Amino acid sequence: MSGTKILIGIGALILGIVLITTALNYLENGSYGRDLATPVDFSESSIDIKITFYEDRLELVRAYHDSMNNEKTDSELREWIRNHDLRGFANLQYNTISGTEPHPTNAAPSCHVHVMRVRGQNDTDRKRTLGHEILHCVHGEWHPESSH
Ligand SMILES: [Zn+2]
Repeated sequence: MSGTKILIGIGALILGIVLITTALNYLENGSYGRDLATPVDFSESSIDIKITFYEDRLELVRAYHDSMNNEKTDSELREWIRNHDLRGFANLQYNTISGTEPHPTNAAPSCHVHVMRVRGQNDTDRKRTLGHEILHCVHGEWHPESSH
């Protein structure tokens, strides 16, 4: 292998990127709010999406901390819940060649959405959270700056 080919091989080294995003109480400005930030665009891609529904907010919050290898006791989690309005989160994994750009030849991205179970057809808050998190699967950390 020539030196050039070795460099290309290193450049194409596939890195796994994990985005952990959260859904907090989210307010729109104007009719549609600010434009989405779209650091990745999987809108033309197949995405493997797994959804875990939780009955108990403590378990949702535990999964959130576990996803960051941040173990907490039940009492620490309950204290955290008192100060945070976590409604769901998405864990998006995709392959890149440059650190941020998805590569079309790589495997399909995978996304794990964690939300509270939708309790009925009029459970607008939880349906909205589910859509919010699936949008993270498509566009990564799409929140416009300072929109939280
Ligand atoms: Zn979000």
